[in-house]
Amino acid sequence: MTAPALTAPALQAVGSPQGIGYRLFSRFRIGTRLAAMMVLAALVSALLAASGIQGLAAANQSLHAVYEDRMKPVRTLGQISQLMLANQHQLQMALAQTTSLAARPSLHPDLAARAARSIENNVGAIDQLWAAYTASVKEASESALGAEFAQRRDQYLREAVLPALEALRQLDYPSTERLATRARALYDSASPHIQALIDLQFEQAHAAYQTGVQRHDQTRNLAVGALLASMGLLGFLGLMLIRSIVQPLRQVSGVFRRIANGQLDTPIVVQGKDEISELLSDLQGMQQRLSDNETAIHRLAYFDPLTHLPNRQLLRERMQLALADSRQDSLHRAVLLLDLDHFKNVNDTLGHEVGDQYLVEIAQRLRQTVQAPHAVARIGGDEFVVLAQTLTSDATAALAQAQALAHDILTAVARPCTLAGQPYYGSASIGICLFHNHNTSIQDLLRRADAAMYQAKSAGRNGHCLFDPSMQAELETRRALESALRGAIEAGQLTLHYQVQVGATGLAVGAEVLLRWDHPVYGSVSPARFIPIAEASGLILPIGAWVLEQACAQLRAWEADPRTRHLDLAVNVSARQFRHPGFVDQVCQALARAGARPARLVLELTESLVLDDLADTVTKMQALQQHGVRFALDDFGTGYSSLAQLKRLPLHHLKIDRSFVQDIVCDPSDAAIVQTVIGMAQNLGLHVIAEGVETLAQHQALLHLECLVFQGYYFGKPLPIGPFGQWLEQPADATAPTEFPPPYPTLPAIPPESVTQETP
Ligand code: C2E
Ligand code: MG
Ligand code: MG
Repeated sequence: MTAPALTAPALQAVGSPQGIGYRLFSRFRIGTRLAAMMVLAALVSALLAASGIQGLAAANQSLHAVYEDRMKPVRTLGQISQLMLANQHQLQMALAQTTSLAARPSLHPDLAARAARSIENNVGAIDQLWAAYTASVKEASESALGAEFAQRRDQYLREAVLPALEALRQLDYPSTERLATRARALYDSASPHIQALIDLQFEQAHAAYQTGVQRHDQTRNLAVGALLASMGLLGFLGLMLIRSIVQPLRQVSGVFRRIANGQLDTPIVVQGKDEISELLSDLQGMQQRLSDNETAIHRLAYFDPLTHLPNRQLLRERMQLALADSRQDSLHRAVLLLDLDHFKNVNDTLGHEVGDQYLVEIAQRLRQTVQAPHAVARIGGDEFVVLAQTLTSDATAALAQAQALAHDILTAVARPCTLAGQPYYGSASIGICLFHNHNTSIQDLLRRADAAMYQAKSAGRNGHCLFDPSMQAELETRRALESALRGAIEAGQLTLHYQVQVGATGLAVGAEVLLRWDHPVYGSVSPARFIPIAEASGLILPIGAWVLEQACAQLRAWEADPRTRHLDLAVNVSARQFRHPGFVDQVCQALARAGARPARLVLELTESLVLDDLADTVTKMQALQQHGVRFALDDFGTGYSSLAQLKRLPLHHLKIDRSFVQDIVCDPSDAAIVQTVIGMAQNLGLHVIAEGVETLAQHQALLHLECLVFQGYYFGKPLPIGPFGQWLEQPADATAPTEFPPPYPTLPAIPPESVTQETP
């Protein structure tokens, strides 16, 4: 199994594909870019306006030149021409009225005088106009023409007008007439020159007008061109600006989308210094953190934090794949379930920290021994699973391969290691389950390997055992029993038997409650058989609660009777029941409901139970002890508890296991053990109860060793409450049993050849 985020296909880097434009733009902050764009637009507008104003001014200048420089002189020249014509007219007017006082016609005095005045005025006006005109002359060609006209005018004045004035004053008709003709001739000769001057003005005016029109056209064209160019430039820059913001934003949203889709390995390149680059940089950091978190989550979900080996979940996925593959090829595969022998001992004696170190060491050795394509996983406490892949298609050879692998593993585990400064020689038991083209489930495979592993354990540990069909039958029986057990309480199949505990005098001091299950098909099922099933399935919780309720009710009933009120009642408590957070309350409530005295209730705990979580054990025991409840350590001697650990527990009784009592008469070492236990218990202030006393000889031997309380068939077998009551009423010397209870049906046997013992 690999993390999806780690195996996503290589993706194009994001945050970089905007090209030169973006690279250039992204150096500047977006605000700066927008401000620069605005300034540029304002500058372009100002330039446009300035050039337009300048063009218009130039055009205006031309128009001004047309009017001021050219049209005014034209009018002046026209006036001069008209005044000259007016002189002509005055002369004609004066000549038109004659007097004939003399032989010679003479001019009319009034008319002549009026004409003379007018002509004088006109001459003055012409002088002024000419002076004004000559002052405005600008060009040499015009000056030349002007000079010509001035010459003609002077001639006109000198030769015609001024003499004509004289003739008018003298009323001299002939002279006036002659001079009028002369004036006419001189006017005619001057007229083309003045016309030339006027034409020149018109030409110049036309030229100025053309220049003005040209400047106007130029200005218009320039303005339109510049406007179009600036619109184009500003549009282009604006587009670039928008792209430099929108495109990276799109890419940022793309990155978000990819991250949301779990593609956390998308490379993000941050180039610029703008806000989007900052966003990308933050995103990069976020992606990194998410990726780290995802890796951490993946590790937590699929790997064991202590040994860093794949955990149960990852093993399940790999097994699923292996099962799928096994349906498609002919190869064998195998599941090897390894459980360390006496690992609990390491934990209990050297502490959990050293236990952890040992597990890490074992994991390291497994990693070295189990090579690909095989895989190794830790599925709990001291349990490891090796999935052996692609063994051969031949069953015998595949088995040999799996056994060889198991052998290698056991050899690796058996190598001594140093724990807490001491050499430690560990071992393990392995259950092997081969599978091939198998339509089975992961759970079945693990259950089979587990059954085979237990077989290897019971065959003396440090060995491997192959799962065989008889184990399958056992598994199926277990499953059937489990489902039958589910309805056992409601079906009234569970009952309680009571086994007496007697004191040194032979009188009953108490009893132990022992659960019985009578099934209509399976018959009487041994607690040794169904209690572990109830433990594993969790059914022990309702069953244990039921036993407690019944036992407390019985205690209450005994208290009501003076003959039985002194009796203790011992109730067996399983690990799962005890570990339940509500256990203390459950006991207190059962006592309260029944109205029984807690001081008569004894809870039997096993060594493995109390040592499993010593702190929790002590807390719960103390809580119940304060309530008055007492405790017995059951099956003492079969576990590995040390004196130091027992001292911490608020115990009242030690129950010596029946295996020591059995051979106490014939095996001196068992007798020595029992003697030691009794001595130790006395030192700790504990009462000793010997379990499984079957014979008078055992009883006497135990009495000799100063054991004072006994339980066993010799005194009484476990009985239902009715017969037990009757038994109690018997006289003390009649209590020895004559027959043992019938044996429970035996478990299916495991063929010895499937168990392989490793030579230590
Ligand atoms: P245990 O608590 O050690 O109970 C003593 C067992 O030894 C009982 O087996 C009893 O019948 C048997 N026994 C007593 N005297 C003799 C004798 O002289 N010779 C021989 N060979 N056996 C003797 P049983 O009833 O089959 O129970 C087996 C185990 O099942 C118990 O061992 C206890 O651990 C468990 N168990 C029984 N009832 C309960 C229960 O209500 N709750 C829990 N959690 N466990 C129970
Ligand atoms: Mg017991
Ligand atoms: Mg016992």
